[in-house]
Amino acid sequence: MSGPAPAGRTVPVNDLPAHDGITRDLAVPGCVLAIGAHPDDIEFGCGGTLAKWAAGGAVIHHLVLTDGAKGSWDPDQEHHALVAQRQSEQRTAARVLGGGDVTFLGRTDGELCNGQRERSEVSRHIRHIRPDVVLGHDPWRRYRLHPDHRHAGFIVTDSIVAARDPHFFPEHGLAPHRPHALLLWEADEPNHVEDVAAVVETKIAALLAHESQLRSTMGIEEGRPDETEAFSARVRRQLGQHGALAALAYGESFHLLTEL
Ligand SMILES: [Zn+2]
Repeated sequence: MSGPAPAGRTVPVNDLPAHDGITRDLAVPGCVLAIGAHPDDIEFGCGGTLAKWAAGGAVIHHLVLTDGAKGSWDPDQEHHALVAQRQSEQRTAARVLGGGDVTFLGRTDGELCNGQRERSEVSRHIRHIRPDVVLGHDPWRRYRLHPDHRHAGFIVTDSIVAARDPHFFPEHGLAPHRPHALLLWEADEPNHVEDVAAVVETKIAALLAHESQLRSTMGIEEGRPDETEAFSARVRRQLGQHGALAALAYGESFHLLTEL
């Protein structure tokens, strides 16, 4: 188990034995908010966990912070068409994972900042949705290159603080809200694994819904089913490695924070 909960609060971690200090499987939350920098980050980071929880009855919300406009290797790619395509792909991926609304903050891809305006908008979203569990990028992951992923992680942690404290952004006119748990994917120090054995292929299908990213992110050229299979095998291999942390066949690993 992880550290003690704040007084008077229960932490919804199943009472399973920890494997080398790694906890496993939160109880299915009622309401979940996943926050990613770009379209497809949520599916890579926690697509299996969202699919499992959606099947278990959780209400899922996706929040994508940037417009994904730099997600192409084609220098002649038209900006607005790519943004529209990526939004459509994100909605398709969310449906594949079991549904849930998708909100786009619309910041420029590659220029995301953890500013007062971003923290206000994300903490307002948290206060409005009132999630039990929030998922996002681990901002403390060492040697992380992409600035959007780093900033997105800190926007999430800082917005959780703002959303829970009434003196941050009182102009929202919304009651403060404190989630039970924060799960950070791409964790620098994983301490929690969700079993995703039943939804491995669902996660892969959600990733493949991001058709504009097949070539640049997933290494799949058009008309190359062998490359689609190689990508799928890489995802299965990674889920196997994450699962092994908790003696599971397939898992998604996170750093779990419950003292929020
Ligand atoms: Zn990304």
